[in-house]
Amino acid sequence: QLELLKDVFLERMLYEKPDTLKPPRTDVLMMTPWFAPIVWDGSYNIDILNAQFHQRHIRIGLTVFAIKKYTVFVKTFIETAEKFFMVGHKVNYYVFTDRVKEMPNITLVDGRQLVVLEVPSYKRWQEVSMRRMEMIRDHSLKRFINEVDYLVCVDVDMRFTDEVGVEILSDVFGTLHPGYFRAPRERFTYERRKASAAYIPPDEGDFYYAGGYFGGTVEEVYMLTSFCHSEMMTDKGNNIEAIWHDESYLNKYFLYHKPTKILSPEYLWDNNMGVPEVLKRRRFIAVPKNHNAIRNR
Ligand code: UDP
Ligand code: MN
Repeated sequence: QLELLKDVFLERMLYEKPDTLKPPRTDVLMMTPWFAPIVWDGSYNIDILNAQFHQRHIRIGLTVFAIKKYTVFVKTFIETAEKFFMVGHKVNYYVFTDRVKEMPNITLVDGRQLVVLEVPSYKRWQEVSMRRMEMIRDHSLKRFINEVDYLVCVDVDMRFTDEVGVEILSDVFGTLHPGYFRAPRERFTYERRKASAAYIPPDEGDFYYAGGYFGGTVEEVYMLTSFCHSEMMTDKGNNIEAIWHDESYLNKYFLYHKPTKILSPEYLWDNNMGVPEVLKRRRFIAVPKNHNAIRNR
């Protein structure tokens, strides 16, 4: 019986001790009022976290959608993920696509695999984006629950440019939208029409979360995507669509079901916005695209 205890101890490790009177960052918020950490460079020790997560043998699923012309982004996405995403851990890439033949053939590192999931496409790009919630929900029950512990759900028109590791993992996490992390509440582009299920009153809201980066345990992602999809369907029945599609419903969910961890914009950046002083690392950046040429095709 006592043998079991061995698993709950970490190995001896050497590192500088945390200083109770000296926070590693004083220029950014590192903790929400509900005690969810906000992940910034300098705020964590990856060796401690890796030791903890390795002990649990966790498996991570990274989901992306490559519908219609967006298949062009898959190769760079996976190749850069091989270099930077969850290095040393077990990873399944789940690529949802309507064009299976256009999937690249990439040799992956041991312990990592590419799973191509064939799904229908939708005509409008807004609907392609929104339907991700339904498909992640359905595959969570069908497949993800049996294959991985955590899901990370992101946009595909992106590349990894620096490490993204287990520091992001938690029961349910969201990401600060790079365009609004310094903005006051009234500038958040939440859905403001009361007729929509995604409505958020002007005097509420913590952060503006990005639609292109969320995750958590499979169970929590199932709950999140179920909520977003069913609220979208309610709106559809009433002939209304929230202003920023899936992102608006995600923001509604996180207002009343607070994330247990929040990723700083280091984890989702667009170089069109320059590089502010608080941004010590850019880990995952938007690949420039011609919106008109690539959407609705
Ligand atoms: N998407 C897709 N095909 C499309 C439109 C969107 O596969 O025709 C997926 C893709 O994963 C993309 C995500 O939906 O990253 C969100 O759309 P987009 O990146 O165009 O939104 P933006 O980041 O520009 O707001
Ligand atoms: Mn995108």
